[in-house]
Amino acid sequence: MQITIHRGTCQIGGLAVEIRTANTRIIIDMGEELPSEHKPFSTPLSIPGVTCGRGACAAVLLTHYHGDHCGQLKNLRKEIPLYMGRLTKEVLLASLTRKEDFPLKTRVAQALTFLPAQPLVFGDITVTPFWVDHSACDSYMFLVEAEGKRILHTGDFRLHGFRGKALPRFIQGRLKQPLDALILEGTSLSRSDGTPVTERQLQQAAKSYMKQYPYVFVLAASTQLERMCALAKAVPAGKYFICDEYQSRLLDLLQQQWGALSPLYRNIKKVVYGKNLQHRLEERGFLMMVRDNRNFRAIIRRFDPARSVILYSMWDGYRTRPGSSLGRFLQSAGRWAPLHTSGHASRQDLKKMIEQLNPAYVLPVHTEAPQALKIICPIEKIKWLKDGEAWVL
Ligand SMILES: [Zn+2]
Ligand SMILES: [Zn+2]
Repeated sequence: MQITIHRGTCQIGGLAVEIRTANTRIIIDMGEELPSEHKPFSTPLSIPGVTCGRGACAAVLLTHYHGDHCGQLKNLRKEIPLYMGRLTKEVLLASLTRKEDFPLKTRVAQALTFLPAQPLVFGDITVTPFWVDHSACDSYMFLVEAEGKRILHTGDFRLHGFRGKALPRFIQGRLKQPLDALILEGTSLSRSDGTPVTERQLQQAAKSYMKQYPYVFVLAASTQLERMCALAKAVPAGKYFICDEYQSRLLDLLQQQWGALSPLYRNIKKVVYGKNLQHRLEERGFLMMVRDNRNFRAIIRRFDPARSVILYSMWDGYRTRPGSSLGRFLQSAGRWAPLHTSGHASRQDLKKMIEQLNPAYVLPVHTEAPQALKIICPIEKIKWLKDGEAWVL
């Protein structure tokens, strides 16, 4: 088997990984690069036979709906079958509403869907998707088997979310057989370390804020659906959980597809904001999902700042990067406080994964500090590749 990481060996986001045998070739993820101060726009991915020109590719598989994994699917040749999770497809179709999203939306609309633990066969390659916990719900890791070899591509994942505990159990079961290579997301290798706050702890913290402040605003990514569910469930009887129509639609999709799996995803009591509610909201109090725009700034100013708090529920880097307007937005109410935990496995959890899986090789991807992998992984196991370098396993 041959592995080529087209992009992502030394950066977070923009990922594309190719796995091929002599007969078959598949691609996992085709992401947009995350914008930075020096590079505001992503370079288009150019993979012969996949984005352009002639050449065979049996399938492209998507780990989850974040743009740094799926944004470049707009450049995927339309003849190549695209696969993704059922809810991933629905969330993307509901979210891609801008005119410039049209090429990607068209491609997503044609996508085929898979189910967790149901193997997909492409020529002599078998791919089995497994559910993982991440800040995008419906995220998957892929077990790729061919030519007597086994590769696990983790995608983005973590162990401290609501479903995080399932992964170590699953490693003991389905992944007990030896792995030849682990393609491991290493976001946390370049970020601050320590024991991560769990999603459950965040939910408890939100409850405490609601005891202190009648008007609680939360700035979070709208597609962080499990956190939104947890916040809605944290609202005490008599108070309101407010979201906008788009968020309400996403929560309905989640309930339709996952409602039977856990009470977390069903019976979300939500109200869409309207000026007619002002009096009742003032009287009873609420938790309101907000976004950084003029509309929400105006809504926040309608409530007594002394009794209001904004909870900042996103990665702090978005707030502190040059040119960010989030700092100003957070001043819209009397006070703001962080309420966030990472969507990525901590260093200690990455270490735990490597020890439990005990693969022959570990290939770091989705990280700004691939060299830091040697802190948590025996160096003889590490295979550092360059973007575009083909490696025969
Ligand atoms: Zn990512
Ligand atoms: Zn992600």
